[in-house]
Amino acid sequence: MTATAARPRHASAEWSLFDDWCMAADLQPLPAAAETVAEFFREVPAAGTTRIRRLQAIRRAHREAGLPLALPAHEQAIPWRSGKGWLELDDTLRRAPLKGWPNGLAARRDMFLVVLIGECGYSREDARTVKLGDVRQDRTGAWYIRDRRIPCTPEAGPCPSCAVARWMKVLEIWDSWGRYSVREHVAGYRPVDDHECLDPVGHEGIMAHTLLPGIDRHGWLADWEPMSARSISAVLAYRQDEARWPHDPQPAFRTGPAERPDFQRTSMQDLTELLDDLDDKAAEALRRSEAAMKAALSTSF
Ligand SMILES: [Zn+2]
Repeated sequence: MTATAARPRHASAEWSLFDDWCMAADLQPLPAAAETVAEFFREVPAAGTTRIRRLQAIRRAHREAGLPLALPAHEQAIPWRSGKGWLELDDTLRRAPLKGWPNGLAARRDMFLVVLIGECGYSREDARTVKLGDVRQDRTGAWYIRDRRIPCTPEAGPCPSCAVARWMKVLEIWDSWGRYSVREHVAGYRPVDDHECLDPVGHEGIMAHTLLPGIDRHGWLADWEPMSARSISAVLAYRQDEARWPHDPQPAFRTGPAERPDFQRTSMQDLTELLDDLDDKAAEALRRSEAAMKAALSTSF
């Protein structure tokens, strides 16, 4: 079967782009290997909705041709980035700018997220569903998230437990005294060498609908729902970008990221996250159509 014979009858512009790219790269478009699709998205970059439309077109073409499209199992996607140009967990934590308003506030939330993804190995959906009751400190001062012991490093700077404790402190102050007090707490912050994770906790029993709220540029928390899966990826890409946070005050004991850029893995990861985005979009469309259906029913009675 040639690629021409397998071409779908109603070829969209999105499909044609992929088809042409495969031709040029001497790769088979139908059925396409997952690596081919991943490579296409890496080499032909586009904005979020365009990427989703392109992936939909590739899926549709396979469905119409009755051919399987073997894409990665997206529930296993961990959005942590590794390899050249990306910071490892310890440096991501160490270089976070904890001072200033509202940057220090965003950095505290983001470092909590960094621990969920980089230390606990959660998927974006796992991270979005972490609840207040999942985060606890035992009598010895050790921190746990869903029964996973969070490590405490010798130094305070890269300590994952300190990152968790710092964000719980913010949520506690927010719930008890409000935004103004959080602002004072963050703006007046001075880095210390002591472990903040050893201070006794006060976050148990506070109200927090989500532990990963959106934060606007004035430092208000959008705490009625967790940040979106796509925002989680964007935050990690931002916080792990070595070029953005070049300053490393204590480079002595760094093991350093891998020297070889792992393009294959990075592009597969992008594809996997794109699949998540697609599912989010499908779920959103379903919610909208259900709401429309309800509205239609309520007016018809
Ligand atoms: Zn600590």
